[in-house]
Amino acid sequence: ATPMSIISGVGRAAEYGVLVRDADALQRASEITTLVFDKTGTLTEGKPQVMAVKTFSDIEEAQTLRLAAALEQGSSHPLARAILEKAGDTTLPQVNAFRTLRGLGVSGEADGHTLLLGNQALLNEQNISTAELENEINAQASQGATPVLLAVDGKAAALFAIRDPLRTDSVAALERLHREGYRLVMLTGDNPTTANAIAKEAGIDEVIAGVLPDGKAEAIKNLQRQGQKVAMVGDGINDAPALAQAEVGIAMGGGSDVAIETAAITLMRHSLMGVADALAISRATLRNMK
Ligand code: ADP
Ligand code: MG
Repeated sequence: ATPMSIISGVGRAAEYGVLVRDADALQRASEITTLVFDKTGTLTEGKPQVMAVKTFSDIEEAQTLRLAAALEQGSSHPLARAILEKAGDTTLPQVNAFRTLRGLGVSGEADGHTLLLGNQALLNEQNISTAELENEINAQASQGATPVLLAVDGKAAALFAIRDPLRTDSVAALERLHREGYRLVMLTGDNPTTANAIAKEAGIDEVIAGVLPDGKAEAIKNLQRQGQKVAMVGDGINDAPALAQAEVGIAMGGGSDVAIETAAITLMRHSLMGVADALAISRATLRNMK
């Protein structure tokens, strides 16, 4: 049991494109039982696309897209980029009273209309009925799409079905982690139906969905209270508190600076195979010390 072998473990990890902060991080990594993955940008490519638009009022599809895109100009959420892309280069109306509602969506005024754009919880919170949309929401979500809803002047006007495919190597990486005995959990602010559809595709054991950004660290704490030793894998600013709460935080390469600063382990390649490599090296290193 020498510190030398730990140092060589850290060096070996670097050869695999895995940056380990210190010897202690490698030791903690060797004891992990449970892996928690952020969905968007970690399991998925993080490049969502609008697959379908459905309208529910007399406002035309092109106009619903203009209004939604106008709002999303003020948002840095990955879903915002998808809607702006779909709207193309039409001129967008000016937006007043813009607000970001974290974990829910965005709101504002444009073209003389009051607008809300986001998930079902956001509309319901404002007492806007989504009963008429329920079938379409479920149909899209059960195929793994995220339904983003637009309300105009207090009435549901459109649904944008947005899909963000799994990274090509996510399934193989998760299969390997399963074989190596880890419990695999998805943690997301997205709705449970969408999250479960993607989890099934990915081979995830447990889904924790509909979590507001502030609830992500608390969700990790809950797993720890059950005696699980948790590594959290994420890429976003949102993920930083959960990365800090976990026994080991793992940041995806190319993710936000805050995630990388908080994490004990950073993957140089933006691939979940790096997670499997990091844990395998930690186990091998600590085994050699015993
Ligand atoms: P996650 O990072 O896990 O996707 P977020 O907390 O960022 O979760 O968002 C949760 C949900 O809130 C999204 O799935 C979406 O339905 C809604 N939402 C958040 N921001 C926006 C936005 N700018 N435009 C549309 N919907 C949004
Ligand atoms: Mg993310």
